[in-house]
Amino acid sequence: ELSLAQRVGRIKPSPTLAVTAKAAELKAKGLDVLSLGAGEPDFDTPEHIKDAARKALDEGKTKYTPATGTPSLKQAIIAKMKRDNGLEYSPKQVIASVGGKQACYNLCQALLDDGDEAIIPAPYWVSYPDMVLLAGGKPVFIETTAEARFKITPAQLEAAITPRSKLLWLNSPSNPSGMAYTRAELAALGEVLLKHPQVVIASDDMYEKILWSVDPYSNIVNACPALYDRTVIIHAVSKTYSMTGWRLGWACGPAKIINAMGDIQSQSTSNPTSIAQYAAEAALNGDQGCVTEMVAAFKARHDALVDALNGIPGVRCLKGDGTFYVFPNVEGLMARLGCKTDLELSDLLLDKALVAVVPGSAFGTPGHLRLSFATSDQVLKGSVERIKALVAG
Ligand code: PLP
Repeated sequence: ELSLAQRVGRIKPSPTLAVTAKAAELKAKGLDVLSLGAGEPDFDTPEHIKDAARKALDEGKTKYTPATGTPSLKQAIIAKMKRDNGLEYSPKQVIASVGGKQACYNLCQALLDDGDEAIIPAPYWVSYPDMVLLAGGKPVFIETTAEARFKITPAQLEAAITPRSKLLWLNSPSNPSGMAYTRAELAALGEVLLKHPQVVIASDDMYEKILWSVDPYSNIVNACPALYDRTVIIHAVSKTYSMTGWRLGWACGPAKIINAMGDIQSQSTSNPTSIAQYAAEAALNGDQGCVTEMVAAFKARHDALVDALNGIPGVRCLKGDGTFYVFPNVEGLMARLGCKTDLELSDLLLDKALVAVVPGSAFGTPGHLRLSFATSDQVLKGSVERIKALVAG
């Protein structure tokens, strides 16, 4: 009998992609499914970015590039990190990867030995635990509450750190909660981290630009510059420029770690797609007006959706700081509809109301749902109406 490697048994397929697939299946059967499951902007990639890709194609830039990215893309990344984040990096401290996802994966492979602990605040992006497990590491979760706006406290962090702690995942603004840490909150976490030099910080800044909080954007290095030497910033053009399918992300950090990530990449995928690199370069160097427009649309939808959700009996939804997700508490809704788990609830919503959402337990925080508002106002309105109708019976 065929036998697979044990590591495969440790992981599960991405639950968010699973929901999207199930919704697509029902749609293919002709059912009018409204999908709030997707983790990607609904806008087209801006034209000037596509033009850069077309130009690269026409110029025959269709061959291997250096495994960790072209020098000109690295320069665009370095300029972005300086301009937006006030952080200085040299080319040796930068790697371009196949989406932010491969950068996260490479980091786990580069850092974690069997039994090393990776601290993951919940709710978390679904792939962190499985990437840690694939590397042989052990996920250590910190639970948060709506009262704490789904953010960890310094005391919680201190309690989670052990001599085996090797990595801390931070994602702000957060998928799925939509919450961002303030600079002061990050500085307080930084105070704890300074006492534990064995911990590397992975700062997943994917949603940096999709932000409307009063506080301007900060990551942990901005808040605590002394952590520069052990923080890896992970980013991508995916969410900011509506470029999810292009698969282009990057990491910036200590040269030793970035070099190891590059070795892993050179023995697995080699370079990210050449033309995607030229497109990303145009995105980073070009006019940022397209981002402002998309963020304004997300913010307007966010406000309308939070209000509408709070009008559904049994739903409590906080206003978020950014991203294109909300993460309402639905325990009241579960009780009304006779669902024991949020998984049962999301199945019921898909089967009976034809509304696709992702259960909070997929992100480590049961009793909630993640709704993506990267979709039209019509779909958002229709979804809320259908859920209301279901509750009304
Ligand atoms: N990190 C977070 C928090 C995300 O939400 C995502 C995408 O869903 C990623 C990383 C990966 O992004 P990419 O599509 O660039 O691989």
